[in-house]
Amino acid sequence: MNSFSYQKAKDVQNAVQLLGGNLGAEYIAGGTNLTDLMKYFISKPQQLVDLNPISDHHTIQENGHGGLRLGALVTNADTAYHAEVETRYPLLSKTILAGASAQIRNMATNGGNLLQRTRCYYFYDVNTPCNKREPGSGCSAIGGYNRIMAIMGSSDLCIAVYPSDMSVALAALEAVVNVSGADGDRTIAFADFHRLPGDTPHLDNNLKHGEVITSIDLPPNGFEKHYAYLKLRDRNSYAFALVSVATGLDLDGDRIKEARIALGGVAHKPWRVKAAEDYLAGRQAIKENFATAADIILEGAVSYKYNSFKLGLARKAIIRNCMMALDPSSQLPGAQPSL
Ligand SMILES: Cc1cc2nc3c(=O)[nH]c(=O)nc-3n(C[C@H](O)[C@H](O)[C@H](O)COP(=O)(O)OP(=O)(O)OC[C@H]3O[C@@H](n4cnc5c(N)ncnc54)[C@H](O)[C@@H]3O)c2cc1C
Ligand code: SF4
Repeated sequence: MNSFSYQKAKDVQNAVQLLGGNLGAEYIAGGTNLTDLMKYFISKPQQLVDLNPISDHHTIQENGHGGLRLGALVTNADTAYHAEVETRYPLLSKTILAGASAQIRNMATNGGNLLQRTRCYYFYDVNTPCNKREPGSGCSAIGGYNRIMAIMGSSDLCIAVYPSDMSVALAALEAVVNVSGADGDRTIAFADFHRLPGDTPHLDNNLKHGEVITSIDLPPNGFEKHYAYLKLRDRNSYAFALVSVATGLDLDGDRIKEARIALGGVAHKPWRVKAAEDYLAGRQAIKENFATAADIILEGAVSYKYNSFKLGLARKAIIRNCMMALDPSSQLPGAQPSL
């Protein structure tokens, strides 16, 4: 472990001030991702600024716009089991509980979850080239073992996927991320928060260095009547998604008024295709229409040597998950349908 200094932030202004323009400094919240990255010598901060003492980022409350504001430092566990989240945003609750383990969710925070880094094997292996870890060094995954990698939105420089489950629901719900930095406060629409790799794969998101995530706003509509999350992975717990799908539907009888479909495990950010959601609006909520929507979502998907199975898996997962959203009780433990 490299040596580093450690300071506790008193409030958000103090956090921003402590980090200052020091590119070698990083914030720490639950530490469940950052300490791993430090132990693998991927992150080598000279200074850590602990956000946990910032008392006003530990609450979940009404946001004044009909939705909820999730404090950045509320743990994933406290968020998933919060009564209002469970009732009004069960899709969010379900995605959080599909991630990691109970112990990790007790430490992991909402802000940290958004900023967790890819699980690409080569990113973690400092003996291999990786453009994300070391810009310009090359990408070991493109010609390597790429089973878990992207099928959408990748570039010639990086084909990694973003691993958060929670963020797949936040994308579907169209959450807003509130941040504070040296230039003041700003809000970032969830769709604009994470980046595609393009020619800057070392950048995961559009947060500026030194900006603190203060909270996440959930819009009023939580799609609480018709929602589903399906996470397909190698083990049934403690594993990241190969493909995941979050669906929220607003129905009028058997017709779809509005559909939201977000995918995880397939791209460098949660993946939504508006054309597919627009296609579903006004149509019957039937398998054939969900299948067409899946085809629209997967138009232009590109696979690599070891991950072509994701193309068929994603299509089936989208259709299955939309069908499950019609009757959320089908997702109760033991009621998970096979593909
Ligand atoms: C074994 C294991 C299995 C896991 N499985 C899953 C899984 O299946 N699904 C899933 O979604 N996740 C999974 N995770 C990841 C886990 O959810 C994240 O590690 C966690 O959410 C990160 O939150 P944290 O508070 O611990 O972040 P930290 O590790 O403290 O920080 C992560 C990054 O965010 C920055 N940061 C933190 N808070 C803020 C803030 N408020 N403002 C600005 N910057 C900030 C830090 O500087 C750091 O760069 C797993 C983790 C482990 C170790
Ligand atoms: S896919 Fe991205 S993270 Fe993985 S080795 Fe290539 S550049 Fe690195």
